[in-house]
Parts: sequence; C-alpha cells; structure tokens
Amino acid sequence: MKKLILFGPPGAGKGTFSSQIRKVLPDIIHISTGDIFRENLKNETPLGLKAKGYMDKGELVPDDVTIEMVRDRLTREDVKAEGFILDGFPRTISQAKALTNITEVDLLLLLEVPRDLIMKRILGRYACPNCNKLYNKYTLPPKVEGICDACGSEIKFEQRSDDNEETLKNRLDAYEKNAKPIIKYYKKMGILKKVNAENTLKFTEKDIKEILNI
Ligand code: AMP
Repeated sequence: MKKLILFGPPGAGKGTFSSQIRKVLPDIIHISTGDIFRENLKNETPLGLKAKGYMDKGELVPDDVTIEMVRDRLTREDVKAEGFILDGFPRTISQAKALTNITEVDLLLLLEVPRDLIMKRILGRYACPNCNKLYNKYTLPPKVEGICDACGSEIKFEQRSDDNEETLKNRLDAYEKNAKPIIKYYKKMGILKKVNAENTLKFTEKDIKEILNI
C-alpha cells in the first residue's frame, strides 16, 4: 500500500505517469483534483459552480474549498485500504500543511520536464470522452486515427477549455510561484524524489518499481 504525491508543472505528465504506476499497483486510487473539479463542473454541482470562475481563468480554486474536497476523498474506506496517488494536490504550501494533518505520505515524485515540451504536451493533449484514455496530437496519437485504442469509441482532437496559451501562462506562473516552498517542505521531510519525466512512456515496470521503492 503506497501513499504517493505526483508533483510537477501542468503538462509534466502526471496523468500519464499515474496510469503507469497503476500497472504495478493496480488497486491504488488515483485522485486528480483537476478531474474531480471538471466532473463537478460538468454536472453543475455547487462545488463545480464555485470552482468554475477560477478554472476558466487558469487560477487556483481557493484552498478551503480544495482542501475540504480532498479531505473528504482521502478519508473514504477504499483509499484507506488501497493507498493513493494524489495528482494535482497539493498546489500551495497551505494545502501541503493541511495534507500532513489528514494523512501520512510515503513519497513525493517531482516530475521534471523542459518548458518547450510542456507547451507541446498541453496544447496537443486530449482524452477519449468515453473512457478518459489520454492522447496527444503531437506526441501520442491513437493507433488508428479517430478511434480510441482502449475502448474503440470514436474520438476527435478536442482541447480542454483551459488548455490554451493564455490560460497556460497563468497556470505555469501559478506553479512557479507555489512550487518552491512545497518542494522545500517535502525535501525537509525526506520524501522527495526527482524523476526525469521527458519520456515516462518508455519506463518499464522494473523502472517504476525502482522509482517507488517496491
Ligand atoms: P489540472 O487538471 O490539475 O491542471 O487542474 C485544472 C484546474 O483545476 C486548475 O487550473 C485549477 O483551477 C483547479 N485545481 C486543480 N487542482 C487544484 C488544487 N490543488 N488547488 C487549487 N485549484 C486546483
């Protein structure tokens, strides 16, 4: 049972790397705060409506809203039994400190990727609307154009509404500003590990086990 944080700028490949980790730890629960917000937005829940304005601009949703949402998810039985991969949380030092009060964490993986690759990854990425499998117009297209490799549904390139150049700049700025104290905090705890994430898809199961110390 592992309790993991995936940390890195937007486009570092946290979603893709989570899928890789699930090949070696199939029951671990993947918790992406961005996905939870998007799901709530789609269903027009009160939480989704609260988050909408911030997400549209590429700004962070306020800490109190985000922390309560994560606390609720992390204290459920499935997570207690199987462990978790936190993807997109914490994003501020207050969130990191709040997390310490909610649960222990075994490892924070800091995914490092050069800026130009980040832009390519973000501006080209899309997902299958049926099964959420991730693709990239430039770096990871489906095997047969227009058909999802995983579930066979028809798919077309459709950007996430916040994956445009203007919003991306805000999101990268927010990351730069907040990342430093968070990295320092986990370094001091002794659980930070850097991962060169330029090509995570090439990682073998053995590579991933080594990274996770299992
Ligand atoms: P992501 O899919 O992780 O890039 O998140 C998409 C958007 O959801 C972000 O730009 C924020 O508006 C919001 N969001 C996701 N995670 C957090 C977080 N930990 N704190 C605040 N806002 C978040």
